[in-house]
Amino acid sequence: MYDSIVIGSGAAGSTAARCLAEADKKVLVLEKRSHIGGNCYDKPDDYGILIHEYGPHIFHTSEEDVFQFLSRFTEWILFGHEVVANVHGKLLPVPFNLNTLHQVYGEEKAGRLEDILINEYGEGSRVPIMKLKANPNSEIKAIADYVYENVFLYYTMKQWGQKPEEISPEVTERVPVLISHDNRYFQDKYQGMPKEGYTVMFQNILDHPNITVRLREDCSNCMTFLEDKVLFEGKEFTGEIIYTGALDELFGHEYGRLPYRSLDFQFEHLQQESFQGRSVVNYTVSEAFTRITEFKYLTRQKDADGTTIVREYPFAYTGAEGEVPYYAILNEENQKLYQQYVKKIQKLKNVYLLGRLAEYKYYNIDAIVKKALQLADTIRR
Ligand code: UDP
Repeated sequence: MYDSIVIGSGAAGSTAARCLAEADKKVLVLEKRSHIGGNCYDKPDDYGILIHEYGPHIFHTSEEDVFQFLSRFTEWILFGHEVVANVHGKLLPVPFNLNTLHQVYGEEKAGRLEDILINEYGEGSRVPIMKLKANPNSEIKAIADYVYENVFLYYTMKQWGQKPEEISPEVTERVPVLISHDNRYFQDKYQGMPKEGYTVMFQNILDHPNITVRLREDCSNCMTFLEDKVLFEGKEFTGEIIYTGALDELFGHEYGRLPYRSLDFQFEHLQQESFQGRSVVNYTVSEAFTRITEFKYLTRQKDADGTTIVREYPFAYTGAEGEVPYYAILNEENQKLYQQYVKKIQKLKNVYLLGRLAEYKYYNIDAIVKKALQLADTIRR
């Protein structure tokens, strides 16, 4: 009855399902939650304000094929996303850039430091904080120490429970020091929000006569992953299976749990026009939460009555009921554990792993979509 089964309906699963459906395959999408869209899922709250249930998701890409693909299913509100850090009450642009430099050091000193930085790294370059910190020039080192102390250290301790130097460099490299006057958080060509939200965009992606979506259906209800084959509703399923969930869950955590960081989102609605007057403020030297998002600014909603904000409190994922594994913790030990599960799944020739959870990676939305487009392409051939 079905040619392919996709497990999960987030960015990975939805994109892959659509591509397979357009290649004339009958696709079954199994989603254990009560909604599609994965962690991009958004919905109006009780006050009519569009919120991102699983934290702020800003779409950004420079990949033409990704942007073209998604643009078939949504129009966009395109804008340059900006973030500030609250540093002892002062609001500083993040990533730390030459504008931030001027705010911190004052015109005269900043002018000189700007020349030194441009001379060292070149205008427009992106310098990871740990690389800047390793620079032997004492003036550059002093800037690096300031940025490390005031932007990275405390925020990273909250988010990961570890210091910046203790976590994988690729995490802090996501937010480099920018040798430019660009206040945007991302430098990608396209950035913004799906005009009617992510949920509507994913509904449109999954709206195809060859796609059947079953909500509230954990794959373990109808599928069994054996050593050398997969059963679907009691019979061997030989079509392709794209799995986008956590890999350890598939095998009952046989080798131990894959570690993740999770977040507790505390939403608050306020009967006032505005709370912080901007979409995201990072708390980099104070508070137990990492950041506050004010949705009406993030989504550019014009008809919002009052305002809704969310605070993010990180914690170590334990697998308890209701917890969500948001971030893979990238290190050698965890990679080894992950590879044990990969070895096991590799015996199943028709199973493909895709996305943040299944690949145990720190993917942005566009990178997941790109990967899904490529995988569907490979399968079609
Ligand atoms: N980071 C930080 N201070 C900031 C912003 C980011 O220390 O103000 C570090 C922190 O370790 C964080 C990482 O950079 O986990 C990546 O940040 P990003 O904003 O990309 O995280 P996401 O939005 O994916 O949670």
